[in-house]
Amino acid sequence: MVKDIDVGVLGVQGAVSEHLESMRKALKEKNICGNVSVVNNEKNLNAVDALILPGGESTTISRLIQESNLRDVLCARIKNHNLPIMGTCAGCVILASEISDKRSDIFPLNAISMQVARNAFGRQKQSFEKQIEIKGFENSFNAVFIRAPIIKKIWSGCNSLSEIEEGIIMVQEKEFLAMSFHPELTNDTRVHCYFIDMILDYM
Ligand code: GLN
Repeated sequence: MVKDIDVGVLGVQGAVSEHLESMRKALKEKNICGNVSVVNNEKNLNAVDALILPGGESTTISRLIQESNLRDVLCARIKNHNLPIMGTCAGCVILASEISDKRSDIFPLNAISMQVARNAFGRQKQSFEKQIEIKGFENSFNAVFIRAPIIKKIWSGCNSLSEIEEGIIMVQEKEFLAMSFHPELTNDTRVHCYFIDMILDYM
């Protein structure tokens, strides 16, 4: 029997409601009982089985993680491997172990063995959509990129799940999933469904 799952969406800044909606839709489509809620303090972070780090502004999200005292719990749960996390766009930056522009105001969580470059697509192309191929997905996925990062390097247990001409845009390392695009901005729930399967594997 599958236990109900509690998925949190970090709600300090960024595209929070879209992820709540996509995750609820994905659970429904997969016929899985679950609860999806906003996480913004230690108590509700400790209560969830998995977490989504939304897009937004990685400098701001990083600062708010520190200010709301979530960093210690997050790092502990990452280290103990009991919190599957999906990070999209700015969330992808936060999950990295290295950020190539070496900003002193972002404190990445060091969950995924990857180096990420922020705002990698230049100003004139701040926002675009592209059909991408994702490993294990039968059909292409319409990916929305908004001032998106690129994954410049991966190592040890990190696997690439999708690449475009400019570089790697989606990776998985054990229970951590990251992508430079915004799957919550389309009606296609396949990325959220993929994350649900990862969560179930880890429960
Ligand atoms: N460029 C932003 C950053 O690095 C991310 C943009 C987004 O999440 N849509 O913080």
